[in-house]
Amino acid sequence: MANAPEQQQHHKSVRSMTSVAVSCRDTIERLWEYLDGELEPGMTASIRHHVHRCRSCQAHHDAAVAFLAKVARVSVSDPATEALREQVDALLRERGLTS
Ligand SMILES: [Zn+2]
Repeated sequence: MANAPEQQQHHKSVRSMTSVAVSCRDTIERLWEYLDGELEPGMTASIRHHVHRCRSCQAHHDAAVAFLAKVARVSVSDPATEALREQVDALLRERGLTS
């Protein structure tokens, strides 16, 4: 668990449903899990909150959603889909927050 502290941390609410501050990097790293509904409720709320407020992450989010909508029409368990997904992920990282 990499809990990168950002600004002031409110330690009392970390475990609750309340969203906590997450960084752009955290958001991008968890974006696929978020979209797959694999994150715990607190983290899901945190990512959602960040995406709504951060234009950069919102662009990533929208691109990922559009991508998922596309692959949803293809076989989900296709290994080619996995590879494609990694490519898109890499592309998003390149465009986004690595500089
Ligand atoms: Zn962001």
